[in-house]
Amino acid sequence: MIPIIKPVVGQEEADAAARVILSGWLTQGPEVAAFEGELASFTGAKHACAVSNCTTALHLALRACGVGPGDDVLTVSHSFIATANAVRYLGARPVFIDIDPQTYNLDPELLPRVITPRTKAILCVHQMGLPCPLPAIVAFARERGLPVVEDAACAIGSEVARDGVWERIGRPYGDVAVFSFHPRKLVMTGDGGMITTNHSEWDRKFRLWRQHSMSVPDTVRHHSASIVFENYTELGFNYRLTDVQAAIGRVQLRRLPAIVARRRELAGHYLKQLASIPRLGLPHEPPWARTNWQSFCVRLPDGIDQVGVMQQMLDAGIATRRGIMCSHREPAYQIEPWDAGVGLGQSERATDRCILLPLYHQMTEADLNLVINRLAAVLSA
Ligand SMILES: *Cc1c(COP(=O)(O)O)cnc(C)c1O
Repeated sequence: MIPIIKPVVGQEEADAAARVILSGWLTQGPEVAAFEGELASFTGAKHACAVSNCTTALHLALRACGVGPGDDVLTVSHSFIATANAVRYLGARPVFIDIDPQTYNLDPELLPRVITPRTKAILCVHQMGLPCPLPAIVAFARERGLPVVEDAACAIGSEVARDGVWERIGRPYGDVAVFSFHPRKLVMTGDGGMITTNHSEWDRKFRLWRQHSMSVPDTVRHHSASIVFENYTELGFNYRLTDVQAAIGRVQLRRLPAIVARRRELAGHYLKQLASIPRLGLPHEPPWARTNWQSFCVRLPDGIDQVGVMQQMLDAGIATRRGIMCSHREPAYQIEPWDAGVGLGQSERATDRCILLPLYHQMTEADLNLVINRLAAVLSA
C-alpha cells in the first residue's frame, strides 16, 4: 500500500518524549519555550507562541486583529474548513473569494471587488504549502489599513521572495502567520500549532489568552520564593501545547530541511514524468515562490470521473485524496450565502477535478513510478 503521506519519526522523537515524561513537568514549560525559540529563528519571526493546534492559533490571531461580531473577514472557501470556522468562532462572517486555477490560492485581483466597510481583516492561505501572492495581498491590505493573517498550516519550510530575497514563510510577510503540526503536515507533534508575529503586543496577548488569561503563569509561580496569586484579566482559553509535544516538535524541526529537500526532489520527478500524460493539469510554482510540496495536486482532464480514478488507484494499493474541499458547500455553511458575489467557480472546479497524489519522505523512485504508471494507465483506459 502506498499512503498519501507518512510521518518522518523515529527513536529520537520517542527519546525526547520519554525525557519529558520523566522530568516531572509535562505541560507548557521549558520544552515549549525552547521549541518557540527554535521556530522563531527558523522562520525569522520576532516572536513565536506555541498553541494546541492551528485552529486555535487562527482563533487567537483573528482575535488580535480585533475581529468580532458584525465584521467580515476576506478569505477562501477552498481550504480545510478550520480556516473559515475560526472566523465564525468570533461571531464574524467569512467572505469567500475565488482562487487562481493555476496556483489554487486566493486570486488577489478580486480583492478590490469584495472589500466593504465591514471588512476587518484578510485571512489568506498558503494552500498545500505553496505561498499565496503575498506581495499583492499585503500591498492591498496596507493601503486600506487591514491586518493580514497567513494560514500557513501546510507551509512550514516554504519560501517566498520579498524584494528579491528568499524568506521562509512565517517571518511573517503579513501581520501574523499560523502553523499546524498535525501528522498530515511536514512537522508533526500529534497535534500542535504555532503563531508567529513581529508585533510584541500581539505576542503578549497570545501568551495570556492561551492560558486562561492568567496574569502570573504557573511556571513563574512554581519558581517563586514568595506567595503570589494570579488573576484572570479577560476571557481566556486553554490552548496550551504540552512539553511532550514540544520536545517531539524540536526533533521534527531539525529534520525539516532534509524533508523539504527530498519532497522537492520527488515532486520534480513527478512533474517531469507526468508531463507526458495528455491533458493532465500539473501544479505550477510561480518564480517568486518555493513550495515545500505538502501536497502534490493534479487536475484531471474534463470528462474523467474523479471518484472512478481514485477508486482504481486504491484498487491498485495507491491512496489518493480529492482536491482541497470548499467550505461553502458543507452543511455547516448552508446558513448564509457567504460568497462575496463574485462566484466560486474555480474553487468548486478545483475540488471536483483535482486529486492529490502520494508524496512522502521515505518514498522511492520505484514507488513514484508505480503511481505515475498506474495513473497513466487509468487515464488512457
Ligand atoms: C490542517 C489545516 C488547518 C488546521 O490545522 P489543525 O492543526 O489541525 O487545527 C487549518 N488550515 C489549513 C489550511 C490546514 O491545512
